[in-house]
Amino acid sequence: MLKKLLLSLAVLTSSLIASSEVNVYSHRHYDTDKKLFKMFEEQTGIKVNVIKAKASQLIKRIESEGKNTPADVLITVDVGRLVLAQDKGLLQSVSSDILNKAVPSNLRQKDGYWYGLTKRARVIVYNKDTVNPSELSTYDDLTTPKWHKKVLIRKSNNIYNQSLLASFIASQGEQKAKQWAKGMVNNMARVPAGNDRDQMKAVAAGVGDLAVVNTYYVGKLLNSKKSKEVEVGKKMGVFFPNQGANEKGTHVNISGAGVVKYSKNKQNAIKFLEYLVSPKAQELFAKANYEYPVNPNVQPSDLLKSWGIFKEDTTPLEAFGKNNANAVKIFNEVNWK
Ligand code: FE
Repeated sequence: MLKKLLLSLAVLTSSLIASSEVNVYSHRHYDTDKKLFKMFEEQTGIKVNVIKAKASQLIKRIESEGKNTPADVLITVDVGRLVLAQDKGLLQSVSSDILNKAVPSNLRQKDGYWYGLTKRARVIVYNKDTVNPSELSTYDDLTTPKWHKKVLIRKSNNIYNQSLLASFIASQGEQKAKQWAKGMVNNMARVPAGNDRDQMKAVAAGVGDLAVVNTYYVGKLLNSKKSKEVEVGKKMGVFFPNQGANEKGTHVNISGAGVVKYSKNKQNAIKFLEYLVSPKAQELFAKANYEYPVNPNVQPSDLLKSWGIFKEDTTPLEAFGKNNANAVKIFNEVNWK
């Protein structure tokens, strides 16, 4: 009798496991992610369904789906979008010792609305042929006369730039942040155009000497299938600004995730996030896009190590979202296109 009961219990649980799933809305689009999700499925029996689109589209979709949304997890490639989703009431607070241990406190929302999964540093890259790195120091230094018409950086409607300026507002106040933005506009080699990769292409072509970009774009150039892009990557030196004893460190942002408010599979969603910050997953997840693991127990890839270790600005990333509107306002005021 007991044997029979146990057997039927086993059948029941296995069928429950087989039908269990987690629905992920993701802005990430890497083959490595697919592999990792497969590993998670094999390990847990939880099926991972992924819908890929831009974060802004995914947020709109979750909003319009309301309580009926199938989404359990939202993954974005910038903290600004996570804060936006949180502000719109689309995420829920979760508590997990595993997540809290694996993700440093500045890289997650304090009440568990979202967590960093990978880290990206916004650094200065320079043309190795024309710039000696000893001439470089801080983000502020980019606004001094020696770099007049030498600096390349993308448009102000870009969320990475908005988060960068928002972090300056958080750490130095609005006035200093505005001064910096104004100084940058003054030193631009051209009216901003294109993405981070295009800034480096312009540096390689001699339009300017320096660019402000996320490190993983250097990795993307170096590993490009196009030989011209590899050449551009090879010309770039990576410099981590604000490393002095009195400086706060280099600006970092995250690719991160939160559990959707109306998730029907909350426990699976938490398990999924816990898996993504585990050492085994972190290494691969970060490598997929030449990013840094958030888990401090995991080493970055050899390419990233070759650029050196750096002190990162530990201003809580939550502050970027809070100061986003102010950052946009300042960009308009100083006429940063
Ligand atoms: Fe990017």
